[in-house]
Formats: sequence, C-alpha cells, structure tokens
Amino acid sequence: MFNRLYLHIPFCRHKCPYCAFVSSPGSKSEISSYVNLLLDELQFAAHEFTSCPIDSVYFGGGTPSLLAPSQISLVLEKIGQHFNLIQNPEITLEANPGTVNRKQLADLYSAGVNRLSFGVQSFNDRMLKVLGRIHSADQARDAFSYARSAGFSNIGIDLIHALPEQTLEMWRNDLQEALFSGPEHLSVYGLTIEEGTPFAVRFNNEKNLPDNDLASDMFEMADELLTSAGYDHYEIANYALPDLRSRHNSGYWRRDGYLGLGLGAHSFIHQGEFGVRFGNPCDPKQYAASIRSGQIPRCNTITLSREEAISEFMFLGLRMAQGVSFADFESRFGNSLQAMFLPALQKLSRAGLIIQEQEGIRLTRKGMLLSNQVFSMFLV
Ligand code: SF4
Repeated sequence: MFNRLYLHIPFCRHKCPYCAFVSSPGSKSEISSYVNLLLDELQFAAHEFTSCPIDSVYFGGGTPSLLAPSQISLVLEKIGQHFNLIQNPEITLEANPGTVNRKQLADLYSAGVNRLSFGVQSFNDRMLKVLGRIHSADQARDAFSYARSAGFSNIGIDLIHALPEQTLEMWRNDLQEALFSGPEHLSVYGLTIEEGTPFAVRFNNEKNLPDNDLASDMFEMADELLTSAGYDHYEIANYALPDLRSRHNSGYWRRDGYLGLGLGAHSFIHQGEFGVRFGNPCDPKQYAASIRSGQIPRCNTITLSREEAISEFMFLGLRMAQGVSFADFESRFGNSLQAMFLPALQKLSRAGLIIQEQEGIRLTRKGMLLSNQVFSMFLV
C-alpha cells in the first residue's frame, strides 16, 4: 500500500511572502497540541492501513525545526511502535537555518533524524530580505557547520533562483557558496509566483523578475556548475552526490505509495488497480475536530482511472533524469508507450525535448527547461 510516511508541520516563525504552503505562525502550546493530534492520527492510521516496511520518514512543512527534539523523538517512537521500519530508514527533517542551534541539532541526531534539508534559499542577505526569510547568510553557514558537528553526514541545501533583481553573477555566488559548504544534496528551484500570496500582488506584471532567458541561463548555470562538481542531476530540480539521492522524494516520482499525516498532508496509496489519492483538510479546526472525534480526517479521495495513472506516470517519471522505461510502462498499463503516444514522441524528439533510447525516453536539458510543454503531451 505505501512504504513512506510524510508528516506535515504547519508552523513557521513568520510567513514568507512568496509561500503558498499550509503554514502559519504558532505558539508553543499550539505546537504541543498539534503534536498530540499527530500522535493520535499515527495511531488511527496504523489501524486503518496495512503498510509495507517503511523505507523513509519525512518531516516537512512549514518549519519542522520549530518542534523540540523531544517532540520529534515522540513522533518517531510512535512510528516505531505502530509501523514496521526497515533497518536503515531515511529520516529527513526540513530545517530553517534561523531556528536551529548546535544543541538542538545534536539532539535531533540522537532522536534518530539522519538527514537534514536546510531551506537556505540564498547566501545573499539582500535576496533573503526580499524573500522575507528570517535568517541571514551567516546563520545558514553556521547551521550547516553545527549540523556537521552534530554528526549529520547527509545534508541537503535548498536554493531558489530567478529572484527579483537577481543577476547571473549573484546566482553563481549562491551556487559557489553552496558548493563550498559541501552538502550531499542540492535542490534548486526557480521562484514561482503563487496566486494568493503577497508576491502575486507585488510582482503582478513581472517587472523586476528575471525574464525567461535569464531564468534559463540560471538553470543551465546550476546544471553546469553542480554536475562539474560531481553532483548527479537526477531530477529536474535536484542534484545529489553518488548514492545520496533523496529516497523519499525519489519515491514520489516513481509513484511509490506514501501516507501523509498532519494538516493539509497528501497521500497516495496502492489500492485498487491504479491507486488512490487523498488529502487531509487544510483547516486546523476541521483537522483537530476530526482527530478528536476518533476519525481519520480524509478528504478529496480520488480513485485514479487508468488514464489518470498513465498521465501521472509520464509526468512524474519524466521529471527524473533516467526518464521512463518502455518495459515498465507496458507492465503497468498493458500497452506499449510507443503505440500509445507515437505522434507525441516524434514531435518531442524533433523539437529536441526528449531522447528516445532502446529502453525508454528521457528529457534533454532543453526538455527539462520546457518540461510543462512536454508533460502536456501525455495527458490522456
Ligand atoms: S519558512 Fe518555508 S514553509 Fe514557512 S513560510 Fe517560509 S517558505 Fe513557507
């Protein structure tokens, strides 16, 4: 059914003006009540679902590093009691560099977290200010070195490019600074202006934002600098040192089953022929009321049709550098990929967006840049 657990921590010190995630500021007592709800939900879920051995646990947010290490430890204990964890599970926690200190990171490591993902976003203090981040570049550098001293040998850094007034030189500095820290993993996203955020109002006519050409140059610069430094560009926005890809996120792109717990979390489980997706409510009151009445707070359940599963398989699989395999497609859907999508494959190959090989297809670098255009060709 699923072999991955995602736990959503919907608290942040301060809401960043570009962010559309389910998160808001929370007091210590709100955080503590929420952890109790999460513990109850874990217990209910363990009774409702039979899981495969759990390969990865991911604390995402929001800002999971706002939880005390003792709270993370409680959640991990509960997971250990109710689920069957494999011997060396990947246990990731997203951390905001402005919320961590040396002792806390050491305690998180002792609690069993073995992978950190730092939301650094930029090493330029002016850009951090524009993004409304609560931390400085120095705090990010310190957080990284505290994490290393605490024993973490698997650390990711997230960076954002195509920021307002950001130049190519500024982006190069960010990448070089990140390389200097030596993380095992780098996630490199282009800024997207999400509807309903303060950025959508401030940048509604795209003035001050890098144009498409500059944004493409930034993407290519990341690809060149990071791959020459030995990182494998294994997914459109993700790079890792050999054997250190994110197991959890790779599972999303491969369509492994995962159970999402907490406010607004999403799940995908292998049930029925093509799988089922559902979400938790985004309204804190509705979420809490449901758990307190002893019910799993599921909403928006979708049993995927064959067509939906095919489209998902294509756009998730093509996000990965290895692409999708013809044999895998045929074994899941009973038809050959070439037969189903021949005109699309020919058109995309001619446009230089995909490469067709003996075993399957994958995106070219140009295809990664124009991935939405490619994915739209596989809507069934
Ligand atoms: S810290 Fe992350 S989750 Fe929180 S508001 Fe900022 S971008 Fe959103």
